[in-house]
Amino acid sequence: MKLKLSLRFKLSVAFVMVALFIFLVIYLLANVVLEKQFKNYTINKIEKTITDIVSHIADQYKESESIWNHQYIENTGINALSEGLIIRVVDKDNDVIWDARIHNNGMCMSMIQNMSENMQAHNPNFKGGYQERTYPIVSQGKTKGQIFVGYYGPYFYSDLDIKYLATLNNLLLWAALISLLACLAFGTYMARRLTSPMAHVVKTAREIAKGHYNDRIDEKSNTKEIIALTDSVNSLAMTLGKQEVLRKRQTADVAHELRTPLASLQGYVEAFIDGIWEPDQKRLKGFYEELQRLSKLVGELERLSIYEGDNLALEIEQFDITSLIKGVAANFAVQFKNRNISFNLKGEKPVIKADKDKISQVFINLLSNSMKYTPDGGAIEINIKGVNDAVKIDLHDTGTGIPSEDLPYIFERFYRADKSRNRATGGAGIGLTIVKSIVEAHKGTITVESELNKGCTFAVTIPKS
Ligand code: ADP
Repeated sequence: MKLKLSLRFKLSVAFVMVALFIFLVIYLLANVVLEKQFKNYTINKIEKTITDIVSHIADQYKESESIWNHQYIENTGINALSEGLIIRVVDKDNDVIWDARIHNNGMCMSMIQNMSENMQAHNPNFKGGYQERTYPIVSQGKTKGQIFVGYYGPYFYSDLDIKYLATLNNLLLWAALISLLACLAFGTYMARRLTSPMAHVVKTAREIAKGHYNDRIDEKSNTKEIIALTDSVNSLAMTLGKQEVLRKRQTADVAHELRTPLASLQGYVEAFIDGIWEPDQKRLKGFYEELQRLSKLVGELERLSIYEGDNLALEIEQFDITSLIKGVAANFAVQFKNRNISFNLKGEKPVIKADKDKISQVFINLLSNSMKYTPDGGAIEINIKGVNDAVKIDLHDTGTGIPSEDLPYIFERFYRADKSRNRATGGAGIGLTIVKSIVEAHKGTITVESELNKGCTFAVTIPKS
């Protein structure tokens, strides 16, 4: 099984890894570059000190009197000792004028020993040892003596230098430790800020999954992704809530649709059994009408299940949509005339590729609704125009209109704006659901706008092919 790690843990580890990496880079750079710079600086310093000392001592020979300034040479030699240099000055006959080892051999030995230990401690691979350089003292073109400068070479670090380098390393280590701790703290803090809203989202999503559709995430965050996540979970809950309300309402509506004809049939049968009514032709006709209503409902449900199925088979052919709608409207001509409803069809004559029968069904349903909800003397108008690769058909009527609170639902199964479900004025609430299914199967859209008591406009858009 793959190891599951929390985001908090992963983020903290990532921060620490980044800190470690940065520290390592800085440490390496500091050690390589700084060490090299410091080494060069030390070598230059030693060179300069030697040059200064040599030139000072060389100046101490007085040519006119052929004598040496012994006191000055001794002072310079003692000073040089404190700089880690062992000086020996001899005259042209190799007679010693001043010698640091004669002055204090113990100090010279311990100094070289100390330097060797310092350098080995600093770098165990350091290869060094005692070295001596010779400088002639020349006056008026003649050699008057020699200066021997002994030191631990090729270069050496004094106690102060070693202390300085150790302090620098310590500082780096402390900086690393502090940045590691800061990264760990910051990583944990960031991870908590990210994960706590997520935990909230997960908790609420679980509640929603249990059916608590009214639960919402009220987490305030300034992270774009978290806001998007909470918004989508909240809107999912809202949609599920709406669907749940609709589902319950649909069940009640179906029950209502079935109950009315069934109750009426039951009444008939009971009256026949009790001998209250004779099963004469008139009553059997009423009985038959109720049966017809029931089978019409079942038929509509069957049709709906076909249209709402994922694989609604479309028989595509090319036809002129205006002629098709004209043909559909012709079937309503008598009703238009009897009810004094003016009908007007205008627009272009676009040719489309679609399922002719199903598109007819769309306009049969829409026109019969308009007929149902438009009072006598009203008007129905259809406008057809080509828009880019699609054709847009607006159907406007001057009927009762649809209350705004019902508008979002009228394409839902069994939904009727008329809550009393008056059987004289409406069907089962399936007509528009079928319309929408057909339009969407053609990759088209349908929208509705309405003002109560003024009428409605249905806008159908169907791609031309
Ligand atoms: P029904 O069989 O009840 O007509 P529909 O699905 O065709 O079912 O329509 C759903 C509801 O939308 C209707 O009950 C009605 O309230 C409303 N409706 C549809 N078309 C119109 C219209 N042209 N004018 C007013 N209301 C309409």
